[in-house]
Amino acid sequence: KRLILIGPPGSGKGTQSPIIKDEYCLCHLATGDMLRAAVAAKTPLGVKAKEAMDKGELVSDDLVVGIIDEAMKKPSCEKGFILDGFPRTVVQAQKLDEMLQKQGVKVDKVLNFAVDDAILEERITGRWIHPSSGRSYHTKFAPPKVPGVDDVTGEPLIQRKDDTAAVLKSRLEAFHKQTKPVIDYYSKKNIVANLHAEKPPKEVTAEVEKVLS
Ligand code: ADP
Ligand code: ADP
Ligand code: ADP
Repeated sequence: KRLILIGPPGSGKGTQSPIIKDEYCLCHLATGDMLRAAVAAKTPLGVKAKEAMDKGELVSDDLVVGIIDEAMKKPSCEKGFILDGFPRTVVQAQKLDEMLQKQGVKVDKVLNFAVDDAILEERITGRWIHPSSGRSYHTKFAPPKVPGVDDVTGEPLIQRKDDTAAVLKSRLEAFHKQTKPVIDYYSKKNIVANLHAEKPPKEVTAEVEKVLS
């Protein structure tokens, strides 16, 4: 399947995607994870992206479209994929359509992680991630077995620099102004499934499975 996950920061996209990936055996491309890796490695791309990310603004369309274009060439992405955090603007959605059209394929479903903004601050400020895998935990809602340590690798967890209440405000603004129109774009194609993403993780997983079955 070819899937897109859309939702505001903290809506649970990163939490659900490994489950979807394991079940449907797809390639998982998360532009945020890829950009953070580029920033950490100080690649030319990372250097260009860092300032916008620190401020909670979107990185330019050209940069992220370039990343996705490159990543989609992986053989594991030929039969299906999960795009997590992309497209975030209508321009990105149009570019994606062009890319897929060349291959003669289409997006099957857009999973809209619908939640009220009010619950996101607690989710974001309690989030801890394992940077190399992108796995996320939460001090209250999804605590690791040992505080500050990844369950799978035993490596340390970190808090993202942009996971503060102040930066969340800009990220939400970007979501409402630039990404909500992407949901409308796909609604017109009748491929959007709305999830009740404010429910506990297991219930959201059950909704995802229902939509994809
Ligand atoms: P979250 O999962 O919390 O919504 P992400 O990890 O997806 O956040 O993204 C972190 C940051 O990376 C964003 O605030 C933005 O600066 C940048 N970013 C990620 N994906 C995109 C994209 N498709 N377009 C523009 N910027 C992006
Ligand atoms: P996103 O990738 O959309 O930014 P995450 O999946 O990283 O969001 O989730 C944000 C934070 O909220 C993480 O700390 C995660 O453990 C937690 N979380 C994810 N889904 C839920 C849920 N359904 N209920 C409560 N907390 C959740
Ligand atoms: P339902 O999922 O029951 O159909 P709605 O889709 O109307 O409910 O969404 C419930 C609330 O979440 C509304 O306040 C709506 O504006 C808001 N909302 C909808 N989609 C998103 C989204 N992707 N991100 C953030 N908020 C959203």
